[in-house]
Amino acid sequence: MKTTLEEQQHQKYATVRVLGLTGGIASGKSTICEIFSAQGVPIIDADSISRELVTPGKPALASIEGYFGKNFVINGELQRSLLRTEIFSNEESRLWLEALLHPLIQQEIRVRIESTDSPWVVLVAPLLLESSDYNWVHKIAVVDTTEILQLERTQARDKVDKSQVETIISKQMSRNERLQKADYVLHNCGTLESLQEQTMQLYRELEKLWHDDPPSDNHNHQVS
Ligand code: ADP
Repeated sequence: MKTTLEEQQHQKYATVRVLGLTGGIASGKSTICEIFSAQGVPIIDADSISRELVTPGKPALASIEGYFGKNFVINGELQRSLLRTEIFSNEESRLWLEALLHPLIQQEIRVRIESTDSPWVVLVAPLLLESSDYNWVHKIAVVDTTEILQLERTQARDKVDKSQVETIISKQMSRNERLQKADYVLHNCGTLESLQEQTMQLYRELEKLWHDDPPSDNHNHQVS
């Protein structure tokens, strides 16, 4: 029986398995993604999708300009710090922006899943557990570390103020809450070698689960 490309993609989408990866700021998400990626696992990064959605010429950028005003987009560029200040100080603005971007992010994630040839992918999102948008992922991996290490690593990486990082950490979900929702925990209080070892162990486990013994059901992701 012949199927259209769209039907084939939909069938593929229904069987690709998704590992949701999350953790606080500077917990080690990107480092883990690099390790998975080196093994050939496709990485879908929700943060970079949301940044791409507001690059010059994108429809979402025009919507933002229309809603917030011309000073939010200058020479085609989104004025990020102005927008950040606006949504931190105005709840209605934050909700409007989320209502604009969240469905677009979900749609793009779906497109990327449909276009993969891999039996499973990693979806990395800092707010994976905070939002119901991601309750369709098949397994959740949490990268866990201490707040002191988060502070040290963020300051070394981004050269930002300690107080700024403390504010970000205080707004994110607590370590305990995150750990309670995890199917797998990657402990990142030790060396990079230890993180590499744990990630490789998880990689082998998921390969066994999703590659060597792929699912036969037509589980639906229910991404809107
Ligand atoms: P995230 O993506 O969660 O923000 P990153 O993977 O970018 O975190 O890690 C934050 C910073 O800490 C990076 O500069 C990274 O190289 C470093 N880092 C991560 N894990 C370790 C570790 N176990 N030991 C030393 N540095 C680390």
